[in-house]
This record gives sequence, C-alpha cells and structure tokens, in this order.
Amino acid sequence: MTLSTSSLTGTGSTRAQQKPRVVIIGCGFGGLEAAKALSGADAEIVVIDRTNHHLFQPLLYQVATAGLPAPAIAGPIRHILRKQIARGNLTVLMGEVTSIDTASNCVVVDGGEHIHYDHLIVAAGATHSYFGRDDWAKYAPGLKTLGDAFTIRRRVLTAFEQAERETDPSKREPWLTFAVVGAGPTGVEMAGTLAEIAHQTLSTEFRRIDSRVARIILLEGAPRVLGTFTEDLSKRAKEQLEMLGAEVLTGAKVTDINAFGIRYDLNETQADGSSKVVSHFLPSRTVIWGAGVAASPLGRALAKSTGCQLDRAGRVIVQPDLSLPGHPNIYVVGDLASAKSYLDPANPTAVPGVSPGAKQMGRKAAFNIIRRMRGLETHAFRYFDYGSLATIGKRAAVAMIDVPYTRKQIKFSGFAAWLFWLFVHVYFLIGFRNRMVVMMDWAWAYFTSQRHARVFPDPHALEPNAMVVRVTPPSVPPVSVTAATPINTVSSSSTSAPGSPVAQPSVSR
Ligand SMILES: Cc1cc2nc3c(=O)[nH]c(=O)nc-3n(C[C@H](O)[C@H](O)[C@H](O)COP(=O)(O)OP(=O)(O)OC[C@H]3O[C@@H](n4cnc5c(N)ncnc54)[C@H](O)[C@@H]3O)c2cc1C
Repeated sequence: MTLSTSSLTGTGSTRAQQKPRVVIIGCGFGGLEAAKALSGADAEIVVIDRTNHHLFQPLLYQVATAGLPAPAIAGPIRHILRKQIARGNLTVLMGEVTSIDTASNCVVVDGGEHIHYDHLIVAAGATHSYFGRDDWAKYAPGLKTLGDAFTIRRRVLTAFEQAERETDPSKREPWLTFAVVGAGPTGVEMAGTLAEIAHQTLSTEFRRIDSRVARIILLEGAPRVLGTFTEDLSKRAKEQLEMLGAEVLTGAKVTDINAFGIRYDLNETQADGSSKVVSHFLPSRTVIWGAGVAASPLGRALAKSTGCQLDRAGRVIVQPDLSLPGHPNIYVVGDLASAKSYLDPANPTAVPGVSPGAKQMGRKAAFNIIRRMRGLETHAFRYFDYGSLATIGKRAAVAMIDVPYTRKQIKFSGFAAWLFWLFVHVYFLIGFRNRMVVMMDWAWAYFTSQRHARVFPDPHALEPNAMVVRVTPPSVPPVSVTAATPINTVSSSSTSAPGSPVAQPSVSR
C-alpha cells in the first residue's frame, strides 16, 4: 500500500499538486534537528521513528544505573513536535523503516506500508557491534536504547540481590564482580558509577553481604582509557576511576563471554623479560558491553538500492553536502553518515559520531533541501567542534574545550570538569521539566549518594529477550578468585574451565 497524500493531509489531491514531501527516518539528534529546521519550509514533513520517544543518549547510563527515571531523559516525539503538528505540516508515524525503494521514491514501513518521499533524510543512528560475536549480546548487553538501560539496571541490581541470597562464597563472588568491556566514554561512565553504587549507595542496605567488596573491572583492548582524549586526560581518567574503586585493565582483548564470565587475552612480561599472551577467565555474572558501534542496517539497505559506498563500520559515505552520489534528494546524517567537514575546503576532516555532529548535520540537510526546493545550489557541511567531555563519577570528569575563533584548547579534570559536565548536560536536555527533575535528582544524589530509580519490573514477567538470573549450575564449578590473584587466571590450554564451550550454561529466559 502506498500512503497517499490524502491519508496524511485529508486534501484528496494528487501528489503532483501537493507540497513536496520530506520524509525523515529517525527522530534522534539528527532527525529532530532536521524536523525543527524544516518547520518554516513550504513542505509536508513526515517523521518516522520505531519508538515513540526522542532519547537523550548521553544520560542513558544514568537510567541504567538507577540515577534517573527514563522520562527525565526521553520525551514523546509527538509532544516535542506538537507545534508543527498543530500547524498541519508535520506528521509523526511510529514504525520501523525496513527498506528504502529509491526506484519509486518510497520508504517501506514494517515490511508493508510504502510512504512516498520527494526528499529523504535518513537519520537512523547506530547500533552495537559485537565484532562478529552476536552470541555475546545476551550475556553482555550494550547501552543504546531505553530497553537496554532497563536490562542493565535490572541485571546490576539483581546481581546484588543474588549475592545476598547465595551462601557459598565461591558462587557469591561472581555475582559481586561486574565487568565493563570498552573504556570509551560509556564504559568509563558505567564503571565509575557502578563503583559508586557498590561502595556508597548500597553500602548499608544488605545484611549478609558487604556491597563494598564488589569488584568493578573495566577492560579495554587499547593501551589507555578514553582513547579520543589527550594522554594526560586519559591518565587522569584512569586515576579517578581507581579512586572511585574501579579496576582498570588496558591491553585486554576479550575472546569470549558467557553466562559465567569473560575470557580475555593479556600480553604479559615473563620472568625472562620476554612477553607472552596469557588467557584469563574472570568469573562475573554481570558483563556490560561498551566496546563496539555499528551503523544502522539501513546503511546496507541504502547501499543496495543506490550503490552508495559504506565505510568499515557500515556508515554511508556521503557527498560534501550530505547527499548520496547520484541521489541529490537523499541525505544521510548523524551516526549513520561517514561525513567530512569542509570548514577548511582544502583539508576536509572526518566528523565524529557525537550528538553535536548529528544535530549540525540534521540542520544542514534541512537547509540544503530548502535550497534545492528553491532551485539553489546546496552547501558543503561544516562541523563546529566545541570539544569533548566525559564524566567518571561524582566529582570526577575530564574536559577538552576548544575556545571559539582561536586554535586554543582548555583541558581540565576533577571537580571543575564534573561541574561543567553537569551544566552542559542539563542545558542540552529537552524540556524545562526534565531539566528541573534532573537537577533535583542530582542535587539529592550528591548529598545522599542515593539513586532513586532503583526499581525494575518483576523478572518473571519480563519481555522474551530478558535473561532471568537463575542459571543451571555449570558442569564444571567456576574457579574462585583468591585475594592474592585479583583476576583469576586460567591457562589458555585448559579446556574445561568456565568460559570454554563445555561449561556453557542453560539460561532460563
Ligand atoms: C550511551 C551513549 C552515550 C553517549 N554519550 C554521548 C555524549 O556524552 N556526548 C555526545 O556528543 N554524544 C554521545 N553519544 C553519541 C550520540 O548520542 C550520537 O552521536 C547521536 O545520538 C547520533 O544521533 P543520530 O540522530 O544519528 O542517531 P540517534 O540519536 O541514535 O537516533 C536514531 C533514531 O532513529 C530511530 N531508528 C533507528 N532505526 C530506525 C528504523 N529502521 N526505522 C525507524 N526509526 C529508526 C531510533 O529509534 C532513534 O530514535 C552517546 C551515545 C550513547 C549510545
């Protein structure tokens, strides 16, 4: 079925007599900015998103770690765009775009409904990448959607509950061991906050366990954490993580994850000075994935139907004006685009996958569509980078701020960077109410160390993909972690250790 103009506007006219239709796929940072920038255009706008909400992903870890309730960082798309809807030039549809038929200028929603476009903006973002090991996803959820945040929140809080019930210390320890894979901003935020939860928030609330003995281990394959920051800030971030009680393991290459823990290789110096790759197994019932990002599968769909090129992460390589080669009416923005900034036209630079990049691209795509509708030439994209921030925990953050119109960069860390991070995130949140809620919750948490969203639904009544924590005991008991060896080491030649295929548990779902 093709969604006709009449079914969107009720005019009953043919498409040729109608205003041009701009379809926007995805209402994240890029799509929302594009929709807003098109509000004055003489066009009919259709925004399609598979969820009903716009999500402020930079604060998603706060929902995952029970610091904020979901509505504080997400808002209904209809409500955010209500003024444009009321003016009659914008329609919001909830549905998943499954393919794009560029021959007939239609997007296909939920595998059936065809919606015609004159101009298309694809802003479908990114998803997790497990580097070809998608089987790890059920043991190590990533953080991208509200659903992911709820899963992580439930698993983290349930791990402490299971530890309280477990009487065997060797079985209790894996419940009190939390592994975070990937030390980019998300992994660092998660590890720092988990350390706070264990060492402060929960420290007085259990009888049988001492939550402060919980171990939070951040594993990173590269030699340092926060690799996009300068070396000194990266070092400061590691120190701040350790001060909060997290353990940082760099150069650790994860080779397997299962319900009982995580296996990784570490290059170690031997007594004779030579180096050797040693395989370790860390028993842990809670693993969180913050390592890989892959572009939305819509990138592949576009490549198939337009012949456009994808980069190694599956992102669509766009023209300087963000359109596709040979398809000047199709624009790709945000995390799905492999775009360059032409601030210096002679020396274009890659645009990073961050929210300011997505917002600026969304606005530029809308601007170029308006120019095309007026018969004018489009402009190349220019990205304005204001710097980078990463928080680690309470009073701990790092900041690299570019001073506008100069080539100077200010770097700072600790309490000042943390305050700056708070201010920036509250400022960019959508909605006055959300800003108030977040500020009040943070102020309360600052003085009490409490986290108020520590509830999750009954695990027995969960969605089908939720992993319930009761796991059939393995045929081979997990190797316990001793005080002398903080991270349990198992010889790489061992075949019966937990983590090897024979120890694969049966997991109730
Ligand atoms: C946990 C986390 C923390 C982050 N922290 C920061 C930070 O501190 N600072 C920063 O600058 N950036 C941060 N980022 C990155 C930033 O959020 C992204 O760069 C930004 O969201 C990209 O915007 P986008 O519009 O391309 O995609 P998104 O914001 O991801 O939006 C994509 C939208 O498309 C919808 N969608 C996807 N596929 C379909 C489909 N097939 N059909 C219909 N709808 C679809 C999704 O539901 C979503 O609403 C973070 C990201 C994550 C995951």
